[in-house]
Amino acid sequence: MSGYWWECEGCGEKSDFPTVVSTLSMSSFVWDKLLRADWDQSLLVSPCPHCQAFRRITYEFPRKDKVTLRVIHIVGRQSEDYVPMMRETYPTDSPKERWFDFKYQRGRNPWGLNKAAVFSRQELQELFMLYRGKTGAQEFP
Ligand SMILES: [Zn+2]
Repeated sequence: MSGYWWECEGCGEKSDFPTVVSTLSMSSFVWDKLLRADWDQSLLVSPCPHCQAFRRITYEFPRKDKVTLRVIHIVGRQSEDYVPMMRETYPTDSPKERWFDFKYQRGRNPWGLNKAAVFSRQELQELFMLYRGKTGAQEFP
């Protein structure tokens, strides 16, 4: 599988977006589900039909030595069709680590999903406040 997929944290089974969340892709999942649900973080986990664990969105971080990341949280801002986001992830070979990945998309267009998002200081403060609100984290960062 390429791009973004869902993968079980327990048994490792991979699934595509239509199977798990009835959307065609990562970008339509963000646009049609996450945004409409005001970044409801519970949408980012799905019970695995084969074991007791959860499935999460998974993707490869483009490094020389490829790293596979699983998504824990996504929060973002919307300005018309521009949606810059912060993803909290962990590398599958080091699950206790947390990596924060800043990307964007325009509408359902996935083009920016591999491009860096830029935030002003004010926007970052608002993003971190949203993160705290959506995740229950007392302090962040
Ligand atoms: Zn499983």
